[in-house]
Amino acid sequence: MTDTANGGEIRYSGLAVSPGFAHGPLRVLERGEAPVPVYSIGPEQVGHEAGRFERAIEKTKLELLRIKEGVARNLGEGDANIFEAHLLLLEDATIVAATLKQLEAKRLNIEAVYNHVIGRYVDVLGALEDPYLRERVADVRDVARRVLQNLAGEEGAFAESITEPCILVAHDLAPSDTAQLPTDKVLGFVTCIGSMTSHTAIMARSLAIPAIVGIEATLHELKALEKTVAVLDGYKGQLVVRPSESTIAESGAAETRHAHVIQELTRLRDTRATTTDGRAIVLSANLGRIEDLPDVAECGAEGVGLFRTEFLFSDRDEFPSEDEQAEMYCRAADAVKPHHVILRTLDLGGDKLLPGTHVSTETNPFLGMRAIRFCLAHPEVLRTQLRAMLRAAAHAGGHVKIMYPMVCCVQEVRQANAILAEERARLEAGGVRIPDIEVGCMIEVPSAALTAETLATEVKFFSIGSNDLIQYTIAIDRGNEELAHLYDPTHPGILRLIEHVINAAHQAGIWVGLCGEMAGEFSIVPLLVGMGIDELSTGPAQVPRVKRAIQAVSQVEMRALADGLLNLHSGEEIRARLDALARERCPELFD
Ligand code: PEP
Ligand code: MG
Repeated sequence: MTDTANGGEIRYSGLAVSPGFAHGPLRVLERGEAPVPVYSIGPEQVGHEAGRFERAIEKTKLELLRIKEGVARNLGEGDANIFEAHLLLLEDATIVAATLKQLEAKRLNIEAVYNHVIGRYVDVLGALEDPYLRERVADVRDVARRVLQNLAGEEGAFAESITEPCILVAHDLAPSDTAQLPTDKVLGFVTCIGSMTSHTAIMARSLAIPAIVGIEATLHELKALEKTVAVLDGYKGQLVVRPSESTIAESGAAETRHAHVIQELTRLRDTRATTTDGRAIVLSANLGRIEDLPDVAECGAEGVGLFRTEFLFSDRDEFPSEDEQAEMYCRAADAVKPHHVILRTLDLGGDKLLPGTHVSTETNPFLGMRAIRFCLAHPEVLRTQLRAMLRAAAHAGGHVKIMYPMVCCVQEVRQANAILAEERARLEAGGVRIPDIEVGCMIEVPSAALTAETLATEVKFFSIGSNDLIQYTIAIDRGNEELAHLYDPTHPGILRLIEHVINAAHQAGIWVGLCGEMAGEFSIVPLLVGMGIDELSTGPAQVPRVKRAIQAVSQVEMRALADGLLNLHSGEEIRARLDALARERCPELFD
């Protein structure tokens, strides 16, 4: 942090994860603080609010039961008892009755009245002489926070708490929170933790909200600056609080320069990502929300190389029905014609939680019940999703490919393919005509990369998930900002794995793409081209720059470059050489 002499400007640095500028007042959401919006309701809405309350209590109950079971299993019944006490507090008849009574009497939304009732309860407990009862204050607060968070987790409630244009500041934002941000109000956001490849950062890029994560400040410090005006630079990763006139002018000028580059890049929209010696790379876009489909054509991508279908599933109480899913997948396939959409089966788990849950009880969620593992353990969920995908393929006459995430061994692919074949047969027996479609798997676990030859016998393509491949190979939590300096896509170990996967795919006669954030790093892309990558898929905002970088190099020279760089032992040196090349070929992409 720097406190400059000119007018008390305060500068904070962090990781720039989503480009753009924002200028506005800070709105700080404290960690664990659940938003408590306050608004009046009409008599006809009382029933609706009471229903929301009932559902939030039910959801909290499920959470607490799950936590209690996990604690009992891992630590013993004694430690789990505390959650028994929380369950009793949750359904405490006095609190529930008082809340419903106040709802009728005050005609305010449920968060406001519940928070008020809890406040009174806490005051009474806190004033008691009995130290045991006084200590229960923390428990009441904890339970109430969960209920309020579950109320906020409902569609729209989190968004409703943001009523004015602001730069949102939080300790962390869950990907589902990010997906719900009202883009007309949130000018930009800043979090204290997170990294380039955390799903929150990925969502920020797809929503085109300028964002900085891992800011070098505590939330407490930033809370003291609530409502103070700031400038956020999502290119450099800087937040300037109380900006001087000259800082505002400089950021305005930088914004204009960037806008000019973006305008120049839009000229490339209808061109292909072809090297100077004629090798065409399929450059497609990643999609998280169905609403973002127009961005795919707009950015000049050739279809969707990764549809993260789990974002249709998260932040809701139930899995979407087959019909609902089929409709979404059909919309995606129709929108990208004549190109393809690659529908990825559910990648829930890790930092993407299951419908109806807001907590994970696994000790290592990223190493746990995630992605294809979850689907194979819940085959009914996978069957429904695959049927919906096959119906979309039937509807769109192809234009759909399917891929499985986080595969770690060939048996998983065989099992998933067997389920797919059964569902295809069932649909065809019912008269649905389904064209041939390509089925692929992601390579994002080192064991999959190292056995790519075997996996290649079961699929028609690979898509390298570099975000997870880096996380699992270097053993770094992809969302941990303190380790961000070690999270290096150009680590020689990562490049060797990628090279191995590309060679194995080509020897087996299948194509190979890469859909992690590495595909959006325009200085690294020429190396991937040299290594022989066939397809790249990245956020729509990155597509024009990546296209420009590919069009500036030849396949032959990049192959030679790859041969040289793959012999180096330092990721830093490899990156420095790639940056130098990009600066020479595409200077306008640097500011
Ligand atoms: C990846 O891991 O690179 C990937 C594309 O999948 P996700 O980021 O959704 O885990
Ligand atoms: Mg992944």
